Amino acid sequence: MSLNQVGVPDTEDQAALIDALAGILSRVWSPSELLDPSHRKRPDQRTVWAALAEVGLASLPVPEEQGGSGGSWSDVAVAGELLGAAAAPAPLVAVCGALGALLSLPEGSADDLVRDISNATITPAVAWTGARPDVLRATGTQDDLRVDGVLTTILGGEGDVLLALAKGDSGAVLVAISAGTGVDVTRLESMDLTREVSRVVLTSAPARLLATGAAAEAAVRRGRASAVLAMGAELVGTQGHCLEASVSYALERSQFGQPIGSFQGVKHRLADVLAGVELSRATVRHLGSLLDGSSMTGADENADEAVAEAVGLVLASVVPAAVTAGNAYIQVLGGIGYTWEHEAHLHYRRACAAQGLFGGASAGKAAQATGPRRHTSNGVVSPALAEFAALVDAELPAHRAAHPDDDYESRLAWQQRLHSAGWIAPHWSEEFGGKSLGIVDQVEYDRVLGSRRAPVTFAGVLGINNVAPTLMRFGTPEQKGYLSRIQSAEDIWCQGFSEPSSGSDLASLRTRARIEGGGEGREFVIDGQKVWTSEGMEATHCLLLVRTDPDAPAHKGISALLVPLDTPGITRRPITQITGEGGFAEMFFDGVRVPWSALLGPLNEGWSVTMTTLAFERAGVIMMASRLEQELEDVAAELEGREISQSAREALLDRVVEARTLGLLGQRALTTIARKGAPGAEHSVIKLVWSRVAQQIADTRLAIAGPLALAGEGGVSARTGALQSRAMTIAGGTTEVMKNILAQQVLRLPR
Ligand SMILES: Cc1cc2nc3c(=O)[nH]c(=O)nc-3n(C[C@H](O)[C@H](O)[C@H](O)COP(=O)(O)OP(=O)(O)OC[C@H]3O[C@@H](n4cnc5c(N)ncnc54)[C@H](O)[C@@H]3O)c2cc1C
Repeated sequence: MSLNQVGVPDTEDQAALIDALAGILSRVWSPSELLDPSHRKRPDQRTVWAALAEVGLASLPVPEEQGGSGGSWSDVAVAGELLGAAAAPAPLVAVCGALGALLSLPEGSADDLVRDISNATITPAVAWTGARPDVLRATGTQDDLRVDGVLTTILGGEGDVLLALAKGDSGAVLVAISAGTGVDVTRLESMDLTREVSRVVLTSAPARLLATGAAAEAAVRRGRASAVLAMGAELVGTQGHCLEASVSYALERSQFGQPIGSFQGVKHRLADVLAGVELSRATVRHLGSLLDGSSMTGADENADEAVAEAVGLVLASVVPAAVTAGNAYIQVLGGIGYTWEHEAHLHYRRACAAQGLFGGASAGKAAQATGPRRHTSNGVVSPALAEFAALVDAELPAHRAAHPDDDYESRLAWQQRLHSAGWIAPHWSEEFGGKSLGIVDQVEYDRVLGSRRAPVTFAGVLGINNVAPTLMRFGTPEQKGYLSRIQSAEDIWCQGFSEPSSGSDLASLRTRARIEGGGEGREFVIDGQKVWTSEGMEATHCLLLVRTDPDAPAHKGISALLVPLDTPGITRRPITQITGEGGFAEMFFDGVRVPWSALLGPLNEGWSVTMTTLAFERAGVIMMASRLEQELEDVAAELEGREISQSAREALLDRVVEARTLGLLGQRALTTIARKGAPGAEHSVIKLVWSRVAQQIADTRLAIAGPLALAGEGGVSARTGALQSRAMTIAGGTTEVMKNILAQQVLRLPR
């Protein structure tokens, strides 16, 4: 069984590359000798690398004019996943670290090294893989340069040439040191059994000067970023493999008379690993695309900052996610996972060992600039939305003067204001009064609103995003007449789905609609109760799910009705929410009569009518993900100038890392939809991750507010935010139910 969680290609060339690599890897590498307890034979990295170089792996990021295969760093991000999944003993990290640095030098400075590394004639080591920068000293002249110092732990120290940054008499120098005279390498006992880790002592080692000063430092930054890309890609592969192998085992292994994959504890753990893989892939691919687009020569400060931040995200999020995946693999296996013979520990070891490289998670977090960032697209809009951005800039001051908060009245007034300018629901087709904006622009539309701190949730949001797509797909011409009134906020719609006894198990709903009369005069007579209906008190209409065939199986026999809420027999009562505010209602239906024309879609097929169109509402979840970063910027602005504790600062940075990686996942989902017309697996984990991260942001904000949070004006928003955020793991499908769905529908684990 394959879940396709390793080496997910973004292009056809990448798909071909993956096939070629998979074939070679299966021929040249098997950990069986290493996993034989009596043998424990250390792998031979050179043989594996030479074979992989045959398909051009070593030359992927090298331009054709420099003798390379003319691929890209994005290709490395895909290929690395395969190596990681196999725990292949290949020096990809050091090779990428070296090529990244060398390719950033002016052409001609190191062409021989680039050529020899990219055709795998020599294997490099780089001095920037360790936990912290080691200090090397360079003395002498350009013609007779010598380097002294100790590299405490580096990857690939047994390579043919070592690239290092040293301190020279007049500043930094980038040097290449060949193995041999003055170079003493000791292989270290490493937690990672499939990577060479060494200590290197340099004693007056002869060195070749490659660059000096700022150029040398820029080359090393680039080399570090490229090495982190390779490591991150391998760790995505580690996670994907741990997930696939755990799922296979969970399907095969039975206990208590059933496959262990049917137990919720196992399912939920693996659903979390799935979320980790998708977040990690989005993060690493983002770094790859930044490296493809930036030379990092120091000329473009914004681009350099963006790369540094992306490198930090890999260290702070991908590495811990790989540890979690390795840990889950062992746990799902149970006793067999705790044996030397099983490969699980190779992956867990590799992930754990990565924590000590490149400064680890703390360096990664430190690289996250908080507050408004220079390199984001905040304020930058696509041409299609420039007019909208100008409109918001012009209209918002007057709106805010009248409505400082985002209460219902404010959201209603804002919707009406934008509607009168023709800018509500621009993603709807022109036929229905929209502008046919694609999904990318739809998300950008939301970003324009969010970045200007305008209300992003309109009063009629449920009508616009949920009811309208269903009407467009299933509505009669007469029913489609509702659409223009949804846009203008003349009609406000709510969704009457949940009932006191039917929440997560919505298909068990019991509100009945009997059919009375015949022919033209047929009507539905509704009896029952709905609960926790958002905007239920303000709404004028309800998309109501009712049971029309009580004898049919649960998901059948349900119909969707369009019900004006002023119909006789409907009683509404407000429900006060956890915050003390309104927003919810319960609705009672007592012999409520609606005509046959209220039926939306076919009779008894209301379940698929509402659920399939809800699934089409793809942009909403991506928008929610991208809003979290803005929320954090607001928190950082709020804290500006205030004393906050070290632990609070660290918690905030954790949230920044989570929100940014989630934003990247949303971005990746968007690209997939724009390219393929359908969402990929990443889309299904966004709501799960978003609700967790949003709640954690609220918790962190409350913790930082300290005593203010308990009482007083200053803590109101932190208090309210923390309380409100409880809804995120309940509304629209609880976390537990989402994990069940992911485990069953994406991972194909049994019910
Ligand atoms: C802010 C907010 C807005 C809402 N708006 C609307 C609305 O507009 N219209 C509407 O119809 N409804 C709305 N709801 C209701 C919402 O859809 C339900 O609350 C939700 O589906 C959960 O149902 P429940 O509350 O009955 O919880 P239950 O289903 O009773 O669940 C209780 C607990 O049991 C867990 N659980 C249940 N089943 C399983 C399972 N199979 N495996 C593991 N754990 C399980 C749940 O995860 C949860 O932790 C809203 C709710 C909130 C909080």
